[in-house]
Amino acid sequence: MSLEFRHIAHAYGEVQALRDIDLVAPAGEITCLLGSSGCGKSTLLGLAAGLLPVQSGSIVLDGKVLADESGAPPPEKRPVGLVFQEGALFPHMDLRRNIAFGLPKGRHGEIEGWLEQVGLAGLGARFPHELSGGQQQRAALARAMAPGPAVLLMDEPFASVDIVLRRRLRRDCRMLLKERGATTILVTHDPAEALDIGDRIAVMEAGRIVQFGTPVELHETPQAASVGAMFSGAQVVPAERRGEALSTAFGDWPVDCVSGALPDSARLDLLVHARALDLEPDPQGLPIRDLHALGDGTMRVLLREDGARDLAIETGEPPRPGGRFRVVPHAGTVRAFAAD
Ligand code: ADP
Ligand code: MG
Repeated sequence: MSLEFRHIAHAYGEVQALRDIDLVAPAGEITCLLGSSGCGKSTLLGLAAGLLPVQSGSIVLDGKVLADESGAPPPEKRPVGLVFQEGALFPHMDLRRNIAFGLPKGRHGEIEGWLEQVGLAGLGARFPHELSGGQQQRAALARAMAPGPAVLLMDEPFASVDIVLRRRLRRDCRMLLKERGATTILVTHDPAEALDIGDRIAVMEAGRIVQFGTPVELHETPQAASVGAMFSGAQVVPAERRGEALSTAFGDWPVDCVSGALPDSARLDLLVHARALDLEPDPQGLPIRDLHALGDGTMRVLLREDGARDLAIETGEPPRPGGRFRVVPHAGTVRAFAAD
């Protein structure tokens, strides 16, 4: 079943958390909502789950309106399973009873199978506090999936698990979700996690979706400098076009530093990689704020402009201490986006 958001807007008093969201989470796919803290991810998920009333727009399940301003079924009447960052299990119930909770009596025979599915075979008599964080998240996943919901909604489900286990857990989780054909919406603030688990990713900023696409589309054709920066580790430098030069806080760059077309806009956002930048001595330039050996033979040099924006340069040649520098990008290494 596909899950669709149509013209969804949401405000908490003065705070406009979501602005005109249109999004289709396709049937059987894992759709990630990705963005930094406060951009509206949990609000969007909460609307789909029925934890929040719909103020404006509609939520459509399998082509039929599930919820809009005129009404919405409560969470327990929706064919959705929920998994949250923590606190997902009932602390006073063992694992078997936790998983049994959403299952009709006649299906309690499936519990052992679920424990096995999520790698917890033999642990059914344990209580949540007798499990590691990763095991608790597996159990929460089993509990959400066991009733066979058409849609799974997951809010930062791996955030409380350590990094090594987190990678394994999300790959296991992806395989399980794909095997079951569940339509999933998963919230994360971690681009690596979104790439690792998502079939599609909706990149959110300040209550809007900036771009929606597959990992390949987001990598190869970012539609905003911020999206390119998020997935490639590159940095965004604002610039103004002045004839044949691009004026930045770190120096004037020649237009031939740009690869591909230069947008027809006076204000640009330039996407630059730390390794494609050189430092040149310049008495009018900026002092070095930080120098850090990265351990692979390169140094990371940090310059900070007056507006407190940092630019990292990775170079094999350590700069002369105490000097001032401007930055020059290698020819054809910069991607330019029109700034709105
Ligand atoms: P995210 O999950 O991406 O971190 P949220 O959806 O939780 O973002 O929040 C979006 C915006 O709405 C933020 O500015 C947040 O401070 C605000 N917000 C969230 N919940 C409430 C609430 N219950 N009351 C007031 N403001 C809220
Ligand atoms: Mg959140």
